[in-house]
Amino acid sequence: TSAALDASCIFCKIIRGEIPSFKIYETKYSYSFLDIEPTTKGHILIIPKYHGAKLHNVPDEYLSDILPVTKKLVRALGLEIDSPEGTGYNVLQNNGRIAHQYVDHVHFHLIPKPNVDEGLE
Ligand code: 5GP
Ligand code: ZN
Repeated sequence: TSAALDASCIFCKIIRGEIPSFKIYETKYSYSFLDIEPTTKGHILIIPKYHGAKLHNVPDEYLSDILPVTKKLVRALGLEIDSPEGTGYNVLQNNGRIAHQYVDHVHFHLIPKPNVDEGLE
């Protein structure tokens, strides 16, 4: 058990394997897994292995890991292809209830935006 994690936080429990998740990728500093209520197919959450509620609470060594991992996952999902159909993706990170944050452990959403003809399923 890492001192950087919280005993009761749901995402800390996912990192520790106490709550099941569909793991996509993991580094020393971050854990990536599928969102349980995906906005689109392949919606991933990338979280630091450090319990901080908001972005400014997380040490730089953890945050520095997140964007390189995001790039890696973008390529793994084939989202780097700038297709004429308009494939793309959103990276979102909410802080505070008023900003639509509902889990108080920093998380980055990676949301694929496929061509609408491909559907969401
Ligand atoms: P927020 O609105 O806080 O930025 O996003 C929280 C996200 O966490 C939501 O998209 C929600 O579906 C996801 N989420 C909440 N609880 C769980 C869980 O137990 N497992 C997984 N995989 N995702 C969760
Ligand atoms: Zn946590």
